[in-house]
Amino acid sequence: MAPTIGRSDSFPRVNGTHVHDVAIVGAGFGGLGMAIRMKQAGMDDFVLIERGDDVGGTWWANSYPGCQCDIPSNLYSFSFAPNPNWDRAYPMRDQILEYLRDCAERFGILPHTRLNSELLEATWVADEQRWELETASGPLAARVLVAAPGLLSEPSSPALPGLERFQGNAFHTAEWDHSDDLTGKRVALLGSGATAVQVVPEIQPRVAKLHLFQRTPPWVVPHTDHPVTRGMRELYRRVPPLQTLSRGVVYTLRESVAVGITRDRRWLKAAELNARLHLRRQVPDPELRGKLTPNYEIFCKRIILSSKWYPAIQEPNVDIVSSGVEEVRKHSVVDGDGVEREIDTLIFATGFKPAELPIAERIRGREGSSLAEVWNGSPEAYLGTTVAGFPNLLFLYGPNLNLGHSSIVYMLESQIAYAMDALRTLQLRGAAEFDVRAEAQAAYNEELQERLSRTVWNTGGCGSWYFDRNGRNSIQWPGFTFEFRRRTRRFDAAAYRLAPPTPVPATTAASAAS
Ligand code: NAP
Repeated sequence: MAPTIGRSDSFPRVNGTHVHDVAIVGAGFGGLGMAIRMKQAGMDDFVLIERGDDVGGTWWANSYPGCQCDIPSNLYSFSFAPNPNWDRAYPMRDQILEYLRDCAERFGILPHTRLNSELLEATWVADEQRWELETASGPLAARVLVAAPGLLSEPSSPALPGLERFQGNAFHTAEWDHSDDLTGKRVALLGSGATAVQVVPEIQPRVAKLHLFQRTPPWVVPHTDHPVTRGMRELYRRVPPLQTLSRGVVYTLRESVAVGITRDRRWLKAAELNARLHLRRQVPDPELRGKLTPNYEIFCKRIILSSKWYPAIQEPNVDIVSSGVEEVRKHSVVDGDGVEREIDTLIFATGFKPAELPIAERIRGREGSSLAEVWNGSPEAYLGTTVAGFPNLLFLYGPNLNLGHSSIVYMLESQIAYAMDALRTLQLRGAAEFDVRAEAQAAYNEELQERLSRTVWNTGGCGSWYFDRNGRNSIQWPGFTFEFRRRTRRFDAAAYRLAPPTPVPATTAASAAS
């Protein structure tokens, strides 16, 4: 019989390849969190592959100036690894990266990690009940595949007419070109979302001219970021429950926003008032204020925290262009009004393609189809984690798990607990395979879509990256985070088809024994 999870000593080598218990793809918060939990549970036979040359996921990839998380530090951390060293209330990218590197080292994950190992193909081999992986650093095999590619990992840049003719420098914020320091340059930047709002105040003082192509103005509230004093950090070190308490307070306050987003819009009125007053205080010119006032409900798109955005875009070297880009020429962009603007550098702060992740094209399930083929543009899963027809696949930060109000790390930890329970269930029941029942997945998604139809994301009068190419909201979680935690507390085996190990073909068994 083929072995089950946790009995790696008896694992056969299949075609000369060791079959790991688990292969994890992606070394961001999700993949590292899963690896740490496995390690803590004494499940040592796993490999963590990462396409980048360091751990950190999105926090490794995004190195643009001003990159900072908009969730407070004490909540944007693993519950099992509080960090008394956070030196700001909201963590900067470099410190998050340092935190993740430290976790990888402290919890012994690095020896399991293969960097520069992009997943090229993962195929379910039904008669051997395992995943066969092709990676940039060679083949791998595993009984269970944990895909943790991150939601915002595939940059999206518009195909502007004439872009191929442009002779200046052009790059996306997620692939920041640090060799171009922009000093004295004429720059066009597209976008006014969370990323643009962080980048612009950083680069505006050093560029000669900044043409800001704003398609839709964001709702912006004052940032409440501040340094964490040395004394406070010392206190967190000496009395850890204080940091836990702070985390609890932040968590509870944030959770109350979910009421407004998903149930009762009146809860969002205070935030709207805050944003309107902020705009009035920071932008004295009524005409400009009009241009910067959103025409959709607050929280429909992700709300932006910034006290630096409005001052920066009112500086004399910034032009706000609302007519879009008509054409790109060798050394210029032409806007929608036909005005040509000479530029040296073109920056895309135009977001990501969360519903079109390349990894979905590379994972092939029971019938040989890829996730992308099965999803056809609209990703869906059971509990955002498992997909019918893709046995022993656990997706972290999968469909409909993104939040508009709290920390994704909390959601990831819920998923990881569920994934760990799935592994334990296989072990306890002597099973080798789980596959979610299609009807459980369908009922779950029907419920989600019905609830989403009443949220501010779906009815607030805006377009956003929460909607896939079919116009379906495949991205957001329409509830409290504690509800998701409750639903993922146990691996609900009744929603799955569990299969026992199938007999190993005689030839393979013989090669395993030799
Ligand atoms: P985004 O929110 O999707 O914003 C993209 C911006 O580009 C929007 O203003 C969009 O305009 C504009 N755009 C897209 N295509 C365009 C085109 N062809 N011409 C002109 N403008 C165009 O992307 P993002 O700012 O990178 O943020 C994505 C997500 O990443 C955030 O929602 C957040 O979850 C995360 N993030 C978080 C932080 C943080 O923690 N502080 C920072 C950065 C990013 P429209 O609005 O009209 O579509």
